[in-house]
Amino acid sequence: MEFPPAPFGADSGSSPRKQVLAIEPALGAVFACNGCEHIHLCFGDVHVRTDIAGFQSLVILLNRAAANFEIWAHNQRSAA
Ligand SMILES: [Zn+2]
Repeated sequence: MEFPPAPFGADSGSSPRKQVLAIEPALGAVFACNGCEHIHLCFGDVHVRTDIAGFQSLVILLNRAAANFEIWAHNQRSAA
């Protein structure tokens, strides 16, 4: 899965307090925050804030889940 980076053009302010890492319009956005030095994940009404280590763990978790999902989906097709 790829989330192409996109700039937050609508964000105002002289100094960028947050660096957008990825936006998926149908889902939400992930950005690095200079204010609290955490990673923010915004999915609709859900807003999650995590430190760098937590974010890296989340990335590993999702990558592992994605890989296992492929295996699971393959097995589902084979069983049918
Ligand atoms: Zn913040």
